[in-house]
Amino acid sequence: MSDIVYLNGEFMPLEDARIPVLDRGFIFGDGVYEVIPVYSRHPFRLPEHLRRLQHSLESIRLANPLNDGEWTRLMREIVARNAGEDQYIYLQVTRGVARRDHAFPKGAKPTIFMMTSPLVTPPAEQVKQGVMAITANDFRWLRCDVKSVSLLANCLLRQQAVDAGAVEMILFRDGYLTEGSASNVFAVSKGHLLAPPKNHLVLPGITYDVVLELAQSNGIACEIREVAEAEVRQADEIWVTSSTKEVLAVTQLDGKPVGKGVPGPLFQRIHELYQEYKRSVMRQPA
Ligand code: PMP
Repeated sequence: MSDIVYLNGEFMPLEDARIPVLDRGFIFGDGVYEVIPVYSRHPFRLPEHLRRLQHSLESIRLANPLNDGEWTRLMREIVARNAGEDQYIYLQVTRGVARRDHAFPKGAKPTIFMMTSPLVTPPAEQVKQGVMAITANDFRWLRCDVKSVSLLANCLLRQQAVDAGAVEMILFRDGYLTEGSASNVFAVSKGHLLAPPKNHLVLPGITYDVVLELAQSNGIACEIREVAEAEVRQADEIWVTSSTKEVLAVTQLDGKPVGKGVPGPLFQRIHELYQEYKRSVMRQPA
């Protein structure tokens, strides 16, 4: 069965989907996107993803071409049309097709594209042993809260991590932790969970919210505040979170062990809570 995607009002096989070369997504990276995990055909935290999409669109001054009901119907349909119980939805909205000019075109129709892929959660090995990360200076723009398709800096940083055999690149700006090149980052120090605040320097991760909610409602002390680079380097535990990585322990940072070099006790706890939370979502009516 070939992948079925959605483009500008129609469902079609992936091979048939075509975008004009003057699409501003292609020319300028002028668009935003979302990634929504789907467990047992249930989109995870859909209202939160739609709220973040709205924030991204408003931030780039692009009117949302669909309302939440329309987005929800399209997502359910694309999931139903594709194989697999666990998928992830990628959707992208660009400012549409127009002659090349930086200023916004008048009357262009936004391009709406949506596809799904099999959702592959981290292998048990990574959960059990943790992963390697390296660090770099965060040289991205100052609107990292926008889920923009202009991801060149993230691509360069992530590739640097891959070249070093690491799973993620952890970023610092002016001596403080921001996030990973494709994830949010938490540190644990003396039993406290430290989380950088959601501001213009980080993507407001949906998984970040879930992890904080689970920590707070299960008696784990949380400090949402700027986290200094030194605190990260001396942390007992470091976690990275994202829709596809869920929660992973970083057990080696820049070649040095984090804490005891194995996933710590708070990681074990949050990982269990996260899996239990996922199961509870799947049990709800689709
Ligand atoms: N920060 C960045 C830069 C990301 O790209 C992502 C997701 N890919 C995240 C954080 C995590 O966001 P979420 O939990 O919503 O997947």
